[in-house]
This record gives sequence, C-alpha cells and structure tokens, in this order.
Amino acid sequence: MKHDLEAYYADLRRRSVRQLEARQRECAALDPAFSALRAKRSRVFFMPAQGAKLTLSTLRMEEEALLKKHGLPRDYLLPAYVCPLCKDTGYVGDPVRQKCACRLKLEQQYLAEAARINERETFEGFREDIYPDEASRQKGKKVFAFCEKYADTLPTPKIRQLYLYGMTGRGKSFMGNAIAARAIEHGIETLRLTAYRMNEEIMKGFSTNDSPLARFTRVPLLVLDDLGTEAMIPNVTAESLFAIADQRNTSRLATVYISNLNSDELAERYGERTASRILDAAISRAIVFDGESLRVKKEGDR
Ligand SMILES: [Zn+2]
Repeated sequence: MKHDLEAYYADLRRRSVRQLEARQRECAALDPAFSALRAKRSRVFFMPAQGAKLTLSTLRMEEEALLKKHGLPRDYLLPAYVCPLCKDTGYVGDPVRQKCACRLKLEQQYLAEAARINERETFEGFREDIYPDEASRQKGKKVFAFCEKYADTLPTPKIRQLYLYGMTGRGKSFMGNAIAARAIEHGIETLRLTAYRMNEEIMKGFSTNDSPLARFTRVPLLVLDDLGTEAMIPNVTAESLFAIADQRNTSRLATVYISNLNSDELAERYGERTASRILDAAISRAIVFDGESLRVKKEGDR
C-alpha cells in the first residue's frame, strides 16, 4: 500500500484551520471585542512593515488579555500545529528546503511497517533457537502457548484483550502477527495495523466526513501494534484511542495491543480512563516481553 504523506500533512493543516475557525466563531459569540480585534488585525496588512509589526504585537497582547478575561488559554486563537517546527508541512528551511524530523520519522516507520509484513511471523514459523538462553526460552514457550490458545479461541477467547509490551526486538510484534495470521486462517475478520497508521486513517476519515472510528470499533479482532510511537494529534489521538478501547470493551470484542509502554507510561500518555479500559483486569492480560534481544536470523543463516 502506498502512503501519501502529502495528503497526511494536508489533512493535519486542514484540521488546525477548522479548529481555529471554530474557536474564532466561539469567541465572536462570547464577546464582540474579539471580532473588533480581528477587524483591526486585517487592516494591518495595509500598513507599512515597521508599524505593522508593532501593531500586531499590541493586538496580540490585547487578544491575550481578552482570552484571559474569559478564562481561555492564551494560545487559544493561534493555529495548533502537531509539529510546530514545520507547521505541519513536513518541510523546514528557507531557501533550502529539507525534510522535517517529523517527516523523516514517518518515512522510517512506513519502511519498517512494509518490512514487517512477514509470512514467517506465524505460530508455525516460531523458532525456539531465537532465545539467547534457557530461562528466556522457557518463558517464551509459555507466552507462545498462551497466545496460540488465545488465537485458537477467537473470536470469543476467555481473556478478550492482550496487552503485549516491552522493548523492541523481544518478539511482541511477532506474537501479534501470529495471532492475526491464525485468526485470518480461521476466517475471522481481522485488522492488524500500527498506531501511527490508525492515527493517519482516522485523520483521513475526519476530512472525508466518514465515521472514522467505525472500522476500528467493529472489527472482530483488532491487533494494534506500536502503540506509543505515533504522533499525539491534539483532540484526535488520545480521544480516538479511548473511544475505540471503550467501545470494544462494551461490545466484548477481542483486541491485542502492542506497545513499548508499561502500564504507568500508558496511563501517562493516554490518560487513566484509557489505560483502565486497555488493562481492565477482568478481561485483559498484560504480558511483558523483557530480557535480552532475540537472535533474529535472516533467510539462509541457519
Ligand atoms: Zn515537522
């Protein structure tokens, strides 16, 4: 699948414009002084450059005072970019245009995602010799057995949710992939994707006026990988994850969350409410993937 980063950034920018316009309307309804300020500001365009700068900063101070008076944050009427560095364009620098760090990160994630589509990541492809020592091999076999049983009892496993967490290279994505592959083999509708991909699809959904969360709340098995590495888009990322986790709990659907965050970090990033849905003791099992990195072998080096 081809990723369209330009469209992604365009969606982000549209989102901040829409949010700003909504806030301007809200403020105008609250106090006519906001509209008066905007009118003054639009006249600044016709002023000589030097005076304009001064007037703009005076107007900005007036605006901040007005926001304060109404108990609103001082940046309420400024565009809220996900990446202030590039203002959600993906590029920085003038006159030499360079890719912004946020764009480089996305490109890397896409490459990693493409590389991960791996047909050997199945329960059948599991190899005990990837574990560096006997203790971790025993532990790994237990986790394997648990996850395979989970996969074989889908779509209604006794424990409906798994939270697989730990550092990269410990096999948690492998396990998620294996569960998804087994479910698909059994004809269970499955959606396996990374959190940044979900983020992107939700953004796209918002701009096309679909109900962007429906896919994620209804699919019988959702395997959500790399939770915690996606960009936190204000009013989108954390809110969507809560809505999805909450709805899936209510609908008693099976979900596998895969993350590098422990439970505290999960709560810190997405909020207590969301963490409590994902780690709900009555229906969830958290499995830590720790120890040394696994010896992942490439094709041919047996
Ligand atoms: Zn950026």
